[in-house]
Amino acid sequence: MDFRFSEQEEKIRKEVREFCQQEPPENFPCEIEDEGYGFGGWSCAFTKRLGEKGWLSIAWPKEYGGMGGSIMERFVAAEELAYHRAPQYGHLFGDAVGTGVLRYGTEEQKQEFLPRMARAEILFSTGLSEPGAGSDLLNTSTRAVKDGDYYVINGQKIWPTGAHLAEWCLLLARTDPDAPKSRGLSTFLVDVRSPGVTVNPIVDMAGANSFTEIFLEDVRVHKKYLLGQENRGLPLVFEALEGDRFWGRCLRHAGSKRDLEELVEFVNEAKYDGHRLRDNQVIRDTLAELAVELEVSRMINYKAAWLLNKGASISWESSVVKVVADELGQRIANAGLEIMGPEIQINDNSKWARLNKRFLFLYTFNRGISLAGGTSEIQRNAIALRGLGLPRA
Ligand SMILES: Cc1cc2nc3c(=O)[nH]c(=O)nc-3n(C[C@H](O)[C@H](O)[C@H](O)COP(=O)(O)OP(=O)(O)OC[C@H]3O[C@@H](n4cnc5c(N)ncnc54)[C@H](O)[C@@H]3O)c2cc1C
Repeated sequence: MDFRFSEQEEKIRKEVREFCQQEPPENFPCEIEDEGYGFGGWSCAFTKRLGEKGWLSIAWPKEYGGMGGSIMERFVAAEELAYHRAPQYGHLFGDAVGTGVLRYGTEEQKQEFLPRMARAEILFSTGLSEPGAGSDLLNTSTRAVKDGDYYVINGQKIWPTGAHLAEWCLLLARTDPDAPKSRGLSTFLVDVRSPGVTVNPIVDMAGANSFTEIFLEDVRVHKKYLLGQENRGLPLVFEALEGDRFWGRCLRHAGSKRDLEELVEFVNEAKYDGHRLRDNQVIRDTLAELAVELEVSRMINYKAAWLLNKGASISWESSVVKVVADELGQRIANAGLEIMGPEIQINDNSKWARLNKRFLFLYTFNRGISLAGGTSEIQRNAIALRGLGLPRA
């Protein structure tokens, strides 16, 4: 493993940094605020701007609207955007879907979707979970029945993030109810503006409007929107989830670094009961411990990015990335609230109120983060199975 970035990677980092200084991401309107995953909030306007720069498709082939760059260049650009708290949520699912289309899509699908996704003309959400199928997607009961050139889809999806903002959804449905559970599932590219689709936003406990429920009633989807082979949808979904676990968390250290830097700034200045917080040994130890964990998280992310860049599988490393990022995020939010608590109670108009609000939000929202994309328990199962070679329990 080479710990230095290449000239090309440094070049793109510099370009992204200058872009964020010239066009501050916070000036773009956000539909969903930054929830602390590491990839910022959801901003259709900012996503469009990234599309114009070509940064939504850095590692896609040029013939499909990509830049023909490497995974590492894509990672470095995303890391720099994360440090600037730039909203990258809006295209995150597009990344996973785009990778699936590149790998499993027909030539027609590649031509139809990839260039438009690269320009952010269309956004994607992912509709996998159902009320009875979350950790165990084999229980998927949404049905797709062949009818001539169409599939007729009926069922319900729960928790798709951003389906109220994205035009399209990668949807998992059962096409053969008689086959073994893992064999009868297929994936579809579904236009959620089609007749029969209802998308309802759901407000989470942090007050954010990030996820949704989708109802599908006799929705007709042309067979050309079947992605991959009929009844062979699971490998595609597992690959998309692997990508989602990595790309959805690998940036967290960059955003959390900013949170920690601001917390340190606060500790340096604030007093409680006449005592400077920076003199408190427990607080110093807590901050130092978080700095250690952040550094570990960064290295784990770099290693996984490097493996991906080499074309290697990260089937269990992506679970490590996710567990570390999610649980560290919870610890940072807890520490932030505990350390800031006394100051905010004393002075509501404190200049630190904004930072405190951020930690308050992260504290509640971070409960959900360790569920999204597969719970920490499921990730630990994957690490035991694929990373440690333990037999299935
Ligand atoms: C913020 C957020 C965003 C989301 N975004 C999306 C999205 O965009 N698209 C989408 O399709 N879904 C999305 N989800 C849904 C998410 O993928 C599921 O919530 C998750 O997979 C867990 O499924 P479940 O909620 O049905 O819980 P269940 O599967 O019912 O699990 C309940 C509990 O049992 C534990 N458990 C279950 N099976 C095992 C096992 N074998 N071993 C040990 N413990 C186990 C789980 O860890 C959990 O604690 C999102 C969820 C959240 C919170």
